[in-house]
Amino acid sequence: MIVKSAEFVTSAVKAAQYPEARHPEAAFAGRSNVGKSSLINTLVNRKRLVKTSSTPGRTQLINFFSVNDALSLVDLPGYGYAKVPASVRRKWGPMIETYLKGRETLKAVVLILDIRRTPGLEEQNFIDWLELYHRTAILVLTKADKLSKTDRKKRRQAIGAALGVDESTLILFSAKTRLGKSEVWSALERAVLG
Ligand code: GDP
Repeated sequence: MIVKSAEFVTSAVKAAQYPEARHPEAAFAGRSNVGKSSLINTLVNRKRLVKTSSTPGRTQLINFFSVNDALSLVDLPGYGYAKVPASVRRKWGPMIETYLKGRETLKAVVLILDIRRTPGLEEQNFIDWLELYHRTAILVLTKADKLSKTDRKKRRQAIGAALGVDESTLILFSAKTRLGKSEVWSALERAVLG
């Protein structure tokens, strides 16, 4: 994918605020701090199109971005952020669910996982849930630069086993070295523009 333009469109908390569904869409999900903003910024060759979520407030919205005026990338609020109050956390699930269930132009959901961390029930449930709603999941293991090549292989095996998925479907990624950038784009193009 040659990115000619990438711009912020709008933020939403409810369906009435989503932008018009004009283009196929890919959404990005992951725990806070997993490297979601860095991944999207790397894909579109921008340093700070997506603001990093070290400020919790920034993470509670669904942010829509337009690429080449042909494709929409959607940054979903990070989950599992310990610092936010339970009252706020309770709203996240329904907000994300409404989007994932109902958005008619949504073609793929990129789930971002830290390569160093074995995914738990939360991730497993999320993947099962996507399957239930026939959403294509693209699984990306990020921060791969933090490990040696041997350890990357080991971690990919362990994560594949933990999630019950074929490890060859797990894309190794690094925002630092841009490892896996073209692989993520290929997966997106297959799913979204197919
Ligand atoms: P988000 O909360 O999921 O949007 O995560 P960010 O993109 O803000 O990243 C969280 C932290 O991880 C930041 O300090 C990033 O610099 C760092 N980070 C993100 N991706 C990578 C990566 O691929 N490699 C390394 N070494 N650090 C990363």
